[in-house]
Amino acid sequence: MKVAVIGSGIAGLSACWYLQDKHEVTLFERGSRVGMDAHSVEVDTPKGSVYINVPMRVFFEGYYPTLTALYTEAGIPFEPVNYAASFSQLHGDTYFRYNNLRAGPYSLPMLAGKSLLKPQALGLGAELLRFLNDAKRHGGNLQRSEKADKKTLADWLASKGYSQRFAEQFLYPAFAGICTCDYDSVAAYPAGIILEYLASDLISSSVHRLTNGVYEVTDKLAKAAKDVCYNTKLKGIRATENGVEITDQNGATELFDHAVIATQANKALELLAEPTAEEQDALSQIRYESGRIVVHRDEALAPDNKGEWAPVNFLLSATEPRPMASIWLNRIYPELEGQANIFESWNPLVEPATDKILVDATVDRPVVTQASLQAIKGLEKLHQQTDRKIWFCGSYSRRGIPLLENAVASAKSIAGYLVSA
Ligand SMILES: Cc1cc2nc3c(=O)[nH]c(=O)nc-3n(C[C@H](O)[C@H](O)[C@H](O)COP(=O)(O)OP(=O)(O)OC[C@H]3O[C@@H](n4cnc5c(N)ncnc54)[C@H](O)[C@@H]3O)c2cc1C
Repeated sequence: MKVAVIGSGIAGLSACWYLQDKHEVTLFERGSRVGMDAHSVEVDTPKGSVYINVPMRVFFEGYYPTLTALYTEAGIPFEPVNYAASFSQLHGDTYFRYNNLRAGPYSLPMLAGKSLLKPQALGLGAELLRFLNDAKRHGGNLQRSEKADKKTLADWLASKGYSQRFAEQFLYPAFAGICTCDYDSVAAYPAGIILEYLASDLISSSVHRLTNGVYEVTDKLAKAAKDVCYNTKLKGIRATENGVEITDQNGATELFDHAVIATQANKALELLAEPTAEEQDALSQIRYESGRIVVHRDEALAPDNKGEWAPVNFLLSATEPRPMASIWLNRIYPELEGQANIFESWNPLVEPATDKILVDATVDRPVVTQASLQAIKGLEKLHQQTDRKIWFCGSYSRRGIPLLENAVASAKSIAGYLVSA
């Protein structure tokens, strides 16, 4: 069959990969390059140029089984990376830092630096251990974590007697970084979603990065499509008796047997020429938060005490609704070791010097809420309709934190429907 895939983030790319054997796929992207690689940048160093993936996306097998299987199947190598973190007040002290003690495939977090001597850090560490233990018990199986979803994370923490300090100084900043959203949105997350993430083997297994960078993913997966059309601003998608009509910006219409919409949910809704009430209801329930991501060379966006720098550094300000997360890229890319410092900062709380900025981009991220969990159930129902021809996938469209795994697993599930269609 002739299938149109719209959107070339990891969801659209993996849809192309999973559909390639049985179908003829055309991939449409509104941007001028593959969406997953849209913000990457090549940086010159005295030892040659280094291709930096923006944002830096990491993963670990426990929470990302479909993604790791896809990379393995496509022959895309990945390797462990130290993703330990520090937590500091902006222009103040680093109050908590851990390092990862590596032993073979395992990676165990251990307090590091001045944290070892600080009662505040020891207290946070003790609550973290208790929380991880609770996460295993309550997030380790779907039934229990769906039960936990009935509470917000804030209510769940309060019901278990966790301190406000643990929430505000560790858990909310860490998950504001992982989910790239405000503290309030983390506090309102359905608790089971966060517990499930920590119940997977994050703590004992190592986090991974792509050995050769994101370009290898976009290159290998996009090749699974017969045609790739960039700069395509589609005007409308309509299901008819004969298939799916796709109209481009010039008014030209092409007929496909099926269309897989792998854009953000709000963009998917805009694309539908005649959304049904069910489609409208499901797709409009997914809320997005915008954020700024900057790759730069400005050390003012890292903790004041250089001795406390970790690969990932959270900086908090009492007056800000979300933290800044500055990734020290020299600790992530072996090619950058010993070179001039370079960082990727999400939500810069200090304006980087203009002449030190390499990339400055705005990124949107779905937020999981009670309404979005309902919307996902609505999408699942839509996908079970007989004669369905328009399909939706993306990180927002499946239970879990909107990360790469959700995007790939949702694409794989759509491909499953299309194989039997
Ligand atoms: C700062 C930051 C850090 C992150 N770190 C991690 C991490 O460490 N690990 C991890 O797993 N995840 C991470 N993520 C999340 C991860 O990047 C996303 O979950 C994932 O990229 C979503 O992929 P997607 O394919 O669902 O959507 P997207 O990547 O948003 O792709 C949608 C595509 O659709 C295209 N599009 C939209 N409208 C149209 C249209 N009308 N016509 C054609 N094309 C259209 C867009 O241009 C885009 O290319 C991070 C995100 C951010 C913002």
